[in-house]
Amino acid sequence: MPEQMVEIPILADIMTPLDSETSRKMPNQVGNVAGATTSEIHQRLMHTGKRHDMDGPLKKVYAFWLSGMSCDGCTIAAVGATEPAVEELLTGALPGLPMVVLHHYATAIESGDHFTHELERAAAGELDAPFVIIYEGSLADENLTVDGEPWSAEGSLPTWTPDAGRERVATALWLKEMAPRAAAVIAIGTCASWGGIPASYGNPTGAMGVMDFLGKDYRSVFGLPVINIPGCAPVGDNFTETVALLLLFLNRQAPLPEFDELGRPAWLYSDTVHRHCPRAGWYEEGTFAKEYGDKECLVDLGCWGPVVNCNITERGAQSHMGGCMVAGGVCIGCTMPGFPDKFAPFYKAAPGSSVSSLMSRLTGSFIRPLRRISESERNRTIRWEGAVPCGWALEGKRIGPGHKFLEFFYERLQYLHSERPGRQKRVEKYASGWITPVEAAYGPDYQVLPDKRAEIARKRNLPRRPGFDTKREEKE
Ligand code: SF4
Ligand code: SF4
Repeated sequence: MPEQMVEIPILADIMTPLDSETSRKMPNQVGNVAGATTSEIHQRLMHTGKRHDMDGPLKKVYAFWLSGMSCDGCTIAAVGATEPAVEELLTGALPGLPMVVLHHYATAIESGDHFTHELERAAAGELDAPFVIIYEGSLADENLTVDGEPWSAEGSLPTWTPDAGRERVATALWLKEMAPRAAAVIAIGTCASWGGIPASYGNPTGAMGVMDFLGKDYRSVFGLPVINIPGCAPVGDNFTETVALLLLFLNRQAPLPEFDELGRPAWLYSDTVHRHCPRAGWYEEGTFAKEYGDKECLVDLGCWGPVVNCNITERGAQSHMGGCMVAGGVCIGCTMPGFPDKFAPFYKAAPGSSVSSLMSRLTGSFIRPLRRISESERNRTIRWEGAVPCGWALEGKRIGPGHKFLEFFYERLQYLHSERPGRQKRVEKYASGWITPVEAAYGPDYQVLPDKRAEIARKRNLPRRPGFDTKREEKE
């Protein structure tokens, strides 16, 4: 791993000296029932689970989850991920992946200065393995604070000193100091990716995303620009899957996955919501919801799905379940850099949608009736030529002459240059010349429909079992 010499102008002045002497003097942590640091817990896990036999040069990678101006929704989304699950990443359960030693303010074993101390160690390059930064929430322009208190902060420095001599450390400052040493920087959620809601028009914080803050030329020590997993909140699987593939790359087990021009995982964000929406068929047939709760396409109610890059309609919100349109909501473009301002006002039909939905209405008015004919025809077996022997309402749906006329030509086209299903006359002979009993009785037409088979039986005066030919018995 290439080593970067970075100057840490601000933190270096206030950080706790990181010599082994200081570490030995670290005070006991009240309330830490584990009696160990996160790193020590992972070390034990690695040995008890024999995870030190893992493939690749990396046995573990530290992950520092920094929280800027956020609602913690991205954390909720990530811990709900299932493919893979966060637990699988933390325990090194996936082949080829190093174990992730996560430092997250909500899940950390340490608290207070013990937690901050791990950030210090990362910023000073004191860790024994590479680390990645996961940033949640947007970054404020800390120059805009009135009283010098950061808009968002994590920990105070110097550690283990009286309060009067300490300063709260802006989360953005941690990012600034740690990013040059990071193996990768991942922005999770729309706030961290593009600024999101805190960066909308009129905000007093000068909020921005990680890319804006670190600049276009930023590269991690592995040569990576900022990786963005947008969404408000993002699909949790989008995050964990990207982390897993990134870890495979860092561990030299796989090539770098493909990212698009905005640093998004290309395989997750290249399609629009609309392409995988469960309501897309309604759109295509020109049928639209008039109010919430209707099952049709929501474009008239303000859905922006046709122009928004998001895979929630394919992946679901969690465990392939839920997601905006499944739950009955319109797409408001929450994954997009233009969110929220360029999608406002929410719940009002987008101007461009009237053109495309008009086209769908026109073609749909012609296509829909034809499809209903094909649908009703295929709701019948080949034996039901007339009435359907069902006690429910379908029996009342008699096929009209128009339907029969269209279906006649439809079938001709359907089986053009192909064979109809079922045994074909030219292949039904056995090589030995053996003739099946049914063919011996009915002749080569034995595969015909029941009515015709009854007709043949009557003509040939074949014995019939009572109850197996009701129509014939009725006629008789
Ligand atoms: S609800 Fe939105 S995403 Fe779904 S089909 Fe309609 S316009 Fe497309
Ligand atoms: S469908 Fe639209 S609103 Fe829903 S998560 Fe995706 S981008 Fe956000």
